[in-house]
Amino acid sequence: MADNKLVISILKKIGETIEEQKEYLTELDQPIGDSDHGINLARGFHEVAKKLPTLEDKDIGTILKTVGMALVSTVGGASGPLYGSAFMKMGMALNGRMELNLEDFLKAMDTAIEAVKQRGKSTVEEATMLDAMVPAAEAMKKAASEGSSKSVLEAGCRAAWAGAEHTKDLVATKGRASYVGERGLGHQDPGATSFSFMLEVVKDAL
Ligand code: ADP
Ligand code: MG
Repeated sequence: MADNKLVISILKKIGETIEEQKEYLTELDQPIGDSDHGINLARGFHEVAKKLPTLEDKDIGTILKTVGMALVSTVGGASGPLYGSAFMKMGMALNGRMELNLEDFLKAMDTAIEAVKQRGKSTVEEATMLDAMVPAAEAMKKAASEGSSKSVLEAGCRAAWAGAEHTKDLVATKGRASYVGERGLGHQDPGATSFSFMLEVVKDAL
């Protein structure tokens, strides 16, 4: 499915997409948070982009661990340690690997979900990034028995966006959005949205 070079180019593209969507993600964070999600992630991926050229010949594990550490140390806000742990734990699971197949990717997604759950003490239906990540992982596992990597990622993206949309119907119980309680209804979670954009980049790269 992907070698280390493709992983690097996907990470670069994720950074570009986050930069393009910076304002939108920040606007989503306005009514339920503190208007910084896009700014936070763009700062983190800017740091990632600086590190990527030094990682060209490294294994996928090292690449993802380095990305995770860069996000933890630069993002600020809850999403930094959450996405940071997700990338670091995926990196640990893929230590030494120069290539990964679809099965590895699906396992890595589960690892990322576990990392966010553990770090955030959170689960689905709490209006967070997990509401895009978990349905996406489930849809991809279901699709994996039937079709190509591309069709699996397409199913994942559809489920991620549907999950992000569904956060409008949820009262947040974790993170800053929990402070606004029911006033958060009708608003889409920024983290579920940023995750959906990231998965979209992976799909387009295949
Ligand atoms: P902050 O909320 O500290 O300003 P960001 O705005 O960068 O940080 O990120 C907010 C996003 O982080 C939310 O939209 C949500 O998806 C995610 N998030 C916050 N807390 C948690 C948690 N405990 N578990 C999972 N995701 C969370
Ligand atoms: Mg915020």
